[in-house]
Amino acid sequence: MKCRKCGSPAIIHIRRHKSSFCKQCFNEYFLKQIEKAISKFSMFDYADSLLLPVSGGKDSVALWHALISLGYTPHALHLQLGISKYSENSLRECRRFAEKFDVPLDVVFLEKESSITIPLIKEKTSIRICGACGTAKRYWYNRYALKNKHDVIVTGHNGDDLASQLFHAVKSWNIPSMLSTYPVREGRGSLVKRAKPLVYLTEKETMVYVLSNQLPVHLEECPLAQGAWSITEKEMLNSMEERQPGFKYRFLTEFYKHAFPKLTNNAKQENVRNAFQECIQCGMPSAKELCSYCRLVETTNRAR
Ligand code: SF4
Ligand code: ZN
Repeated sequence: MKCRKCGSPAIIHIRRHKSSFCKQCFNEYFLKQIEKAISKFSMFDYADSLLLPVSGGKDSVALWHALISLGYTPHALHLQLGISKYSENSLRECRRFAEKFDVPLDVVFLEKESSITIPLIKEKTSIRICGACGTAKRYWYNRYALKNKHDVIVTGHNGDDLASQLFHAVKSWNIPSMLSTYPVREGRGSLVKRAKPLVYLTEKETMVYVLSNQLPVHLEECPLAQGAWSITEKEMLNSMEERQPGFKYRFLTEFYKHAFPKLTNNAKQENVRNAFQECIQCGMPSAKELCSYCRLVETTNRAR
């Protein structure tokens, strides 16, 4: 297998592009896909202050390295979830990366800030744990970005993640969830703008990028992940991709092009009626009196 661009031995074959690349040409391809997404969706520019949540996993690590390579200076934030060894190892790899490239990294400890951890929520309540974990992440990233005046929260969701989220949402025609797969969400009041620059890249590609560049990375699977719906959705989409290379890419991009503009217009009218208010406890944006994170903390504490 030879690189399509330079003829050197290839390290990856990308079926949807009918292309193979050597290490150097793959790096160029990878960075180009990110630049394309940043520009196509007007995600941010060099004047913006970027907050990059990092878990130590392949996607956030790949994005961290790619943004630095493109000349951005993202400020990395790691949220400690308290999932025993798994969380400790995640933090260790984030610190190794920050040291290796001499870049800033901040850590927020869920237990220190709110006296809860993700395993405690799982043990004491019947709330779906990945949903609870997502609520905590979204809350702390937004709160931290607001406090430190970052313009955009940049996350490492790749195209496979977004395609499986869209597929899951389409199965029940959950319009807000379908819209949330769009790679950029403008800021509104105290909700900070969000962007997903890995939208045009796959899990395999972020993995190859991380390994071929020998980046510090944490590849262990979260012990609480068993049975997550996203695993099933990804397997189903992968079998479609196997038969029709490029299926996932088209599924996403055709949605963005054709359905998203129409659905978003209707949603805007809804949003006028459902304006955000401030959470009476923490002051963060909320659809109800108490935000979903404060409700999560309250429910967990009541069950102790
Ligand atoms: Fe959180 Fe679920 Fe991911 Fe584990 S698998 S880190 S619980 S979202
Ligand atoms: Zn709150």
